[in-house]
Amino acid sequence: MGFIGIGFSSPSRPVFFDKFISWLSAHKNADMSWLEKNLHLRKDPSLLLEGCRTIISLAYPYPASKPSTPDGLTTSRYCRPDQDDYHYRLKILCKEIIMLMKEYDSGCATRICVDSAPVLERGFAYSSGMGFIGKNNMLIIPGYGSYFYLAEIFTSIPLDVPPVQAMDNQCGSCNLCLDACPAWALERPFSINASRCLSYLTIESKGQVSPVEGMKMGNCFFGCDRCQEACPFNGHKESGKVLLPSSEEILEMQGEEFDRRFGKTSFKRAGLEKVKGNIRAIMASGVRREV
Ligand code: SF4
Ligand code: SF4
Repeated sequence: MGFIGIGFSSPSRPVFFDKFISWLSAHKNADMSWLEKNLHLRKDPSLLLEGCRTIISLAYPYPASKPSTPDGLTTSRYCRPDQDDYHYRLKILCKEIIMLMKEYDSGCATRICVDSAPVLERGFAYSSGMGFIGKNNMLIIPGYGSYFYLAEIFTSIPLDVPPVQAMDNQCGSCNLCLDACPAWALERPFSINASRCLSYLTIESKGQVSPVEGMKMGNCFFGCDRCQEACPFNGHKESGKVLLPSSEEILEMQGEEFDRRFGKTSFKRAGLEKVKGNIRAIMASGVRREV
């Protein structure tokens, strides 16, 4: 089905829960106040599905090439402007897996999570032995890297999976991701200040990016992959693939056309005006780097 990783863990208190609380207490979550809600569910994921016995973590790859405009602007890799948003796509695939599970246990309860419930998903994937957490906070699968989406299936099936050892960090003395971050958002290994992160600023933040932030963006107007690009576990870099209209066309685009072309894609989360503001910030900065 195209998944590149699978792991199984129990719905117990997540391994990084205390660290997550400390991170929130230090106000490193910018204005993403939704992260502060439903902490009881984050702490006890078994509450998300009655009778939950197993959490199945799944990793689905996205291409190493960046979507680009003909004039050389790019987006982060996870954003596929030529496809439906990954939340839709992964849910469809997870439903197919559930159909197979129902053949095994027709009465089993299941719940799919693709960023759709308060779940510390990297923690469960880590606990399942699927990969390790890098200094850039990404889950890294040795031999593959970190260019993938995560999804979870909660189920009442008590899968008979041997206990696994969580994977030790394999970064060693490498600090390439911290050095590569243009916004100093990786304040130290394994710690991110979201209010500085370009992924947050260009997608989640309600405000427009500032000219100074535009200078840090290089040519990427939606998200940021620099701390992943720098990582040796991600292997060779692939150049941009033209999947987008020119930046000029996007700047002239009206809401109706945006909805028609991008209404089901990851762009929808930020919205047209935010996307335009990001492009304008890059244009105003005059700073571009190689795609
Ligand atoms: S996504 Fe970009 S801005 Fe955010 S931590 Fe990584 S390199 Fe820094
Ligand atoms: S760039 Fe280096 S330090 Fe950062 S996550 Fe990758 S291996 Fe670890």
